[in-house]
Amino acid sequence: MADTQSTITGNRGLQLEEPLIFEQDSPGRVGVDFPDTDLSDNRLGGLERQGPVGLPNLSEPQTVRHYTRISQKNYGIDSGFYPLGSCTMKHNPRVNEKLARLPGFASLHPMQPTSTTQGALELMDTCAHWLKVICNMPAIAMSPAAGAQGELCGMMAIKAALEDRGEGAQRTRVLVPESAHGTNPATAAACGYSVDSIPANDRGRVDLDAFLSKLDEDVAGIMLTNPNTCGLFENDIIKIADAVHDAGAFFYCDGANLNAIMGRIRPGDLGIDCMHINLHKTFSTPHGGGGPGAGPVVLSEPLAAFAPLPFVVHGENGFDLVEHKSGAGKKSYGRIKGFHGQMGMFIRALGYMMSHGSDGLRQASSDAVLNANYLLAELKDTLSPSFDGPCMHECLFDDHFLKDTDVSTLDFAKAMIDEGFHPMTMYFPLVVHGALLMEPTESESRETLDQYIHAVKGLTARAKSGDAKYFHDAPQLTPRRRLDETGAARNPILRWAPGGDEEKS
Ligand SMILES: *Cc1c(COP(=O)(O)O)cnc(C)c1O
Repeated sequence: MADTQSTITGNRGLQLEEPLIFEQDSPGRVGVDFPDTDLSDNRLGGLERQGPVGLPNLSEPQTVRHYTRISQKNYGIDSGFYPLGSCTMKHNPRVNEKLARLPGFASLHPMQPTSTTQGALELMDTCAHWLKVICNMPAIAMSPAAGAQGELCGMMAIKAALEDRGEGAQRTRVLVPESAHGTNPATAAACGYSVDSIPANDRGRVDLDAFLSKLDEDVAGIMLTNPNTCGLFENDIIKIADAVHDAGAFFYCDGANLNAIMGRIRPGDLGIDCMHINLHKTFSTPHGGGGPGAGPVVLSEPLAAFAPLPFVVHGENGFDLVEHKSGAGKKSYGRIKGFHGQMGMFIRALGYMMSHGSDGLRQASSDAVLNANYLLAELKDTLSPSFDGPCMHECLFDDHFLKDTDVSTLDFAKAMIDEGFHPMTMYFPLVVHGALLMEPTESESRETLDQYIHAVKGLTARAKSGDAKYFHDAPQLTPRRRLDETGAARNPILRWAPGGDEEKS
């Protein structure tokens, strides 16, 4: 039990302590009144269960309260500001949820004959079409289930294209800037490539000379995030694309930050060969514990033929699926996921695009950049910005402003929780010391941003006043205090067993 809870019950106001549902088990207690059943005519042939089912016995009101109380402990984008950098935690418009729940979509089964799923295939095709238009790219693979899987999808297409060209064995190295998202080097390594890191310059961008000096005939490609994870636009991107192509390699762009440029810049115009789009970020489908991801990958002409199966085509009798390595799928490297991708996300993403229109999408990215620059402008004299000049959709600070206070980035973030804010992203990107990365998104109001700025300024003044203990003790107002996050990650207790004998795994 948390040590600050000085109440008799352990409850804090109307925030109630809640045991696990299994700990509330009371044998014989039920929520419904079943008629007695006569099991004498049992046709299970001796296969019936011998022991108890092991489900907790609770009444209906107990059950309702259990889940309601748990839901109140949740913090999400629907409850408050979520400035988590590199995550694009924007509002999920309810009209999209309504569309995704239409029975014609929600009750579909992926194995239905295509003659009965023409509307769904058309929706996938229309969503794919507009994503290609937004990116100005000729082809797209819809099936990847997240950004990281999109990266894998794209790098596998690059690998297949190089093998098709007879250069598979020769090109073994992938260049990855040191400011890259961790999934980039992981993807390159998972595809069997060696990862060669490119340093950043003092403006937080790729060091062009260092990059050029690493380009050689053994390079398969570069994986560049743009805008990068410092929230900065890679101004040399066209020079980088040209140099990559001159060297016979491919240009993978991590497009998770599309929310900064959507409707203003088309990745295809920058010389990109493939790029994943996080529908769950830019196109507002719920994520971060609230739903699955979707990471479609746009592809250039030289990579299009290697896209994974299945994909939608316009057939003789309407829409059809190419599911096998023959015909249009001849050069495909195969499947990356069961079935067709995250249908529910396609519905929401198309709903987002159509309800915004091209002017609305452009305004969304513009407002996202404006909001981040508002934070940067208001906080730049309080915190320590990592780089000079304006940012894109997120702003990055390091921990210089906490020098000599004995307060760390982590302590500061914990104190933000007591103020009612989800912490910013901490210690990422790795290129700056003690990073604090803030991404407000376009859906936050000026009032919310001002409250947040007020809290950050107030806490900074407190840290500088020498009150380090306050920060070491934070959070103080949460149901649980400072958690052993490393212990939880290294030694997770994932199963509960009767009698308090937790099983570790
Ligand atoms: C979120 C993100 C990813 C990974 O996307 P997931 O959908 O979480 O797998 C990759 N790169 C960047 C820059 C990101 O922000």
